[in-house]
Amino acid sequence: MPTNILIVEDESGIARFLELELTHEGYAVDKAADGRTGLDMALAGEYDLILLDVMLPGLNGLEVLRRLRNESGVPVIMLTARDAVMDKVSGLDMGANDYITKPFSIEELLARIRAALRSGAAAERRTAVLRCGKLALDPARHTAVYGETPLQLTYKEFFLLQTLLENRDIVQTRDMLMEKVWGYDYAGETNVVDVYIRYLRQKIDAAFGVKLIHTVRGVGYVIKGDST
Ligand code: CA
Repeated sequence: MPTNILIVEDESGIARFLELELTHEGYAVDKAADGRTGLDMALAGEYDLILLDVMLPGLNGLEVLRRLRNESGVPVIMLTARDAVMDKVSGLDMGANDYITKPFSIEELLARIRAALRSGAAAERRTAVLRCGKLALDPARHTAVYGETPLQLTYKEFFLLQTLLENRDIVQTRDMLMEKVWGYDYAGETNVVDVYIRYLRQKIDAAFGVKLIHTVRGVGYVIKGDST
């Protein structure tokens, strides 16, 4: 089966260029020229990856991503002409797997597509309910609870917690977590991991008065049963 990619891009020249290059690489490609159509196609189709422009008529790319993430964990790479930090942060926090600024080289885009596809395939294999103490996370239903209380987690928080639980009692370095959760090697940006660990601690350890997420000084993080 070919790998199916949806391109949501209103600039027809860029969309056509991407279609030619990706088809040449052996991918099956569909195109949408506005946000509304792109969202409908993404939700209806069986896509392995979405290339999503930020500046789109109809719904903009961030809004498409937000709505898509309510229903789907399909890998998404955001495309934008603007080198805007806010777009990057909002896109990644809303669950984009990666981000690429125009103009980009096709080689760079292809490398990022392969990385995002690998992280998407890895995410799909994870189906068993994962537990640590009273904490339970169900990857298939995309739900997490502490005891009976549902946890309100963003997409990346959920995936980070899932990754820690899959490696329960095994220390994960920041680089390992970056690679597994963000699916791409952001050299020098591993403080993103610290920020998201802090969010998880607020929502789990602090909220329920337990200590599940441990810092291993100079190494990384580990989740393990509350020993207190
Ligand atoms: Ca555009």
